[in-house]
Amino acid sequence: MYSWSYTFVPNNLRNMKVLKFGGTSVGSVKNMENVKNIINDGSKKIVVLSAMSGTTNTLVAIAKNVLEKEPNEAVDKINKLHEHYFVTIDELLKDVELNVKTKAYASEIFNFLLNSTYKDYSQELENKILAQGELLSTFMFNTYLNQEGISAALLPALDFMRINSAKDPDLFYIKEKFKTVIDAAPEANIYITQGFICLDEKGAVSNLQRGGSDYTATIIGAVIKAEEVQIWTDIDGMHNNDPRYVEKTHPISNLSFDEAAELAYFGAKILHPQTVLPVREDGIPVRLKNTMAPEALGTLISAETSENGIKAIAAKDNITAIKIKSGRMLQAHGFLKKVFEVFETYETSIDMITTSEVAVSLTIDDDRNLDKIVSDLEEFATIEVDKSQTIICLVGHSIVNHESTFKLFKILQDVKIRMISYGGSRNNISLLINSNDKLTTLNKLNDYLFELVTL
Ligand code: ADP
Ligand code: ASP
Ligand code: MG
Repeated sequence: MYSWSYTFVPNNLRNMKVLKFGGTSVGSVKNMENVKNIINDGSKKIVVLSAMSGTTNTLVAIAKNVLEKEPNEAVDKINKLHEHYFVTIDELLKDVELNVKTKAYASEIFNFLLNSTYKDYSQELENKILAQGELLSTFMFNTYLNQEGISAALLPALDFMRINSAKDPDLFYIKEKFKTVIDAAPEANIYITQGFICLDEKGAVSNLQRGGSDYTATIIGAVIKAEEVQIWTDIDGMHNNDPRYVEKTHPISNLSFDEAAELAYFGAKILHPQTVLPVREDGIPVRLKNTMAPEALGTLISAETSENGIKAIAAKDNITAIKIKSGRMLQAHGFLKKVFEVFETYETSIDMITTSEVAVSLTIDDDRNLDKIVSDLEEFATIEVDKSQTIICLVGHSIVNHESTFKLFKILQDVKIRMISYGGSRNNISLLINSNDKLTTLNKLNDYLFELVTL
């Protein structure tokens, strides 16, 4: 297996911090000013930026218009985006020369987008469209720092960030190229780069999937063996439940890498699912902070494990459950192997699995090859498929057999559970429910597990 860990890192790259700022953090001039104040402390650092909030969603919608041959709708969206950016540039850049230079750069991008609306759709074109948000935000922010007299340099992510054919970061390439781009700007104090965007193994523009700027930050962190990676966002750290669905949530001060990885993978939107992977091996801490409230403690993710018991709940939607029933399963060894081989053939990973004497139930979140999978399984079993399922994941250190976990089973009388996975690891209990029951289930779990409802 490829190791994230490196032994040699040039001295000029060691011990820097990597700070990533998300969409809201660069989403307005006021917030960009907050970012400037946070990063301008005199120490050399890498700053990774997302696109301004809302931009990538609009670019996704524009790409869809291209796919569906709706150029008028696309042009309308591009014009609105253009107007929004020019207003922001006027507010941000009072220096006339820098203002004109930035508008010229932005105009090139909007012209590219307009030209794209009449082209034939391809995945490559979509990826190029999606890349424009980060290119815009970093150019604007770098120019803003220049205007404010701060020594900054822009490192183009497409000059160093690359994924391989398995869509994993090509670490050897990234390390070599990163050193080259940074060496080209030795005098700068703050290095700004785009999150999310990268090249693929053929050199075409690609990306690290939605929310991927977090991943960019930890990949860079691993490559330079950063002292710390900080993810600055619009909330004061990882909360114990999803604040979009549950009212009474609170930030968690410490998480282990494993706990954070489980929560990110199972739907805690504050972190891209793979964020923790690059830095776990080297024990590089990841700190989650709030750009709008920098004094708040946030969450520290590190190799330390703190107290036992359930710490947080996350939910992952768009899950498909597959029940595989076979009379021949009874006492037949090799049955599960056959089942797994089908999923392996279609490169589809399984999240949850439960078995009984006559059936196996499992879940997948990537249903692109569902029809083929079902058809292969039907050669030796009867299949039932349930879409629109949600995995609720309870995470903490040593939660299996922990004294507080019994409360979980008390609430089972109140919520409908399709599957339950207990004991797979000591740090995770997963429940599969119908997505319609998600809101009630998250709230009930919150009341019972964290709000000390008497049972
Ligand atoms: P950014 O644009 O900075 O990357 P995101 O929107 O990707 O920000 O992530 C932050 C959001 O994640 C929060 O505003 C919050 O609504 C959502 N979120 C979901 N689950 C959690 C959680 N467990 N803790 C904190 N935030 C969460
Ligand atoms: N701008 C990208 C997105 O919206 C990447 C990110 O925000 O992390 O998905
Ligand atoms: Mg994000």
